[in-house]
Amino acid sequence: MQEQKTQAGQVVALGTMPRPKLRILLAAPRGFCAGVERAVAVVERALTKFGSPVYVRHEIVHNRHVVDALRAKGAVFVEDLDEVPVDRPVVFSAHGVPKSVPAEATARRMTYIDATCPLVSKVHVEAERHYRAGRQVILIGHANHPEVVGTMGQVPQGAMLLVQSTTEAEQVEPADPDCIAYVTQTTLSVDDAEAIVAVLRRRFPAIVGPRKEDICYATTNRQSAVKAIAPRCDSFLVVGAPASSNANRLVEVALKAGCPAAALIESAAAIDWSRVTGSVLGLTAGASAPDRLVEEIIAAARTRYDVTVEEISVTAETVSFSLPRLLSA
Ligand code: SF4
Repeated sequence: MQEQKTQAGQVVALGTMPRPKLRILLAAPRGFCAGVERAVAVVERALTKFGSPVYVRHEIVHNRHVVDALRAKGAVFVEDLDEVPVDRPVVFSAHGVPKSVPAEATARRMTYIDATCPLVSKVHVEAERHYRAGRQVILIGHANHPEVVGTMGQVPQGAMLLVQSTTEAEQVEPADPDCIAYVTQTTLSVDDAEAIVAVLRRRFPAIVGPRKEDICYATTNRQSAVKAIAPRCDSFLVVGAPASSNANRLVEVALKAGCPAAALIESAAAIDWSRVTGSVLGLTAGASAPDRLVEEIIAAARTRYDVTVEEISVTAETVSFSLPRLLSA
């Protein structure tokens, strides 16, 4: 009989060594938000209604697993409208698009379906309202993120200023400090955005903005759930894509809330288990990551550890959005 030694020096039969204990604290809410569920449903319903291929401008949501599943059903992902044949329908992603994109689709007489999350559309409307009222708009967000490109594209080029940090908020110079407004990207860190808004309000007391930031309910709830458990965790895993803003913010929130190690991972296969230290692991998923990926991680952990799972919920979510009219019939 082959033998092996336990950490305590005890000799046991090979294959009978007790596995180390791992307690997983599962954050809730986590994973898909109402905007992502709607965007995925838009593509699926468009495929049913129009047949394949249905074109999608930009990744419908930032998650390779979601995109691959839709591709297998007949969706074709492109970066530019030029790549779409005029006789095929095209879906615009949940992040929103500049006004020039639907205008071009209309000019080319294309069928388009806008899957922009209604909470992003709300920010578009706010930005345009301020612009029409003669206010220069400051957008708090991350350069080049598709949502930021879309929001800046609601007003003429150069009319909106982008601020990404408290340092930039200290330096920004609007044309008329008494006639400005701000809006925010929906997926920012709540704490970072509050700090930036505080600088803007101090420097420009007349600035107009939302009562809170425009950060959406899903981003806020996922960050609150991470904050609630991170101080009790030895390490933290956030399921999400490298391009996902809200997933990256969850890693930062876990670290800031006191967890010594946090990492973004795309799937169970990508986990380096040697870096999962200690006996308590925090686990969550960004708003564009399906819960299946979380379940796969728990299953993978069970092959290495004696696992217990405790879900800690900070709130229940009941938000849902209806489909665009073209698809709802
Ligand atoms: S993260 Fe928020 S803004 Fe983005 S799609 Fe989800 S609900 Fe909409």
